[in-house]
Amino acid sequence: MKSYRKELTLNIQGRRAFVNITPKVEAALDESGIHEGICLVNAMHITASVFINDDECGLHADFENWLEKLAPHEPVSSYKHNGYEDNADAHLKRQIMGREVVVAVTEGRLDFGPWEQIFYGEFDGNRAKRVLVKIIGE
Ligand code: ZN
Repeated sequence: MKSYRKELTLNIQGRRAFVNITPKVEAALDESGIHEGICLVNAMHITASVFINDDECGLHADFENWLEKLAPHEPVSSYKHNGYEDNADAHLKRQIMGREVVVAVTEGRLDFGPWEQIFYGEFDGNRAKRVLVKIIGE
């Protein structure tokens, strides 16, 4: 069995964004030389997510509006976590959108369903953050 590990670094300007990282994960899969196995992709920070959904800008605006209703950034004083930092909402948004995804690797490709793409969700940006890609198989 082979094992491959890679860290992706994202530095989002602004507080929140969704970024399609599918091409970066596909590049990691090519580098791994693995044809059959499992690919794990996870955010290495507790105010960012990795999730799978459609690459459609209306949907991304809907996610943003929905998350902001569930956990509004303002007023920052409404959260007990906020003290020397102001990112309580980012922790809550990350929890809803998830930490990681696992995708089957079949014949050297990510074995997606229709329209599936892998996204990085940033909820407290303006600094470099890492995403772990771990692929195992043969
Ligand atoms: Zn925090």
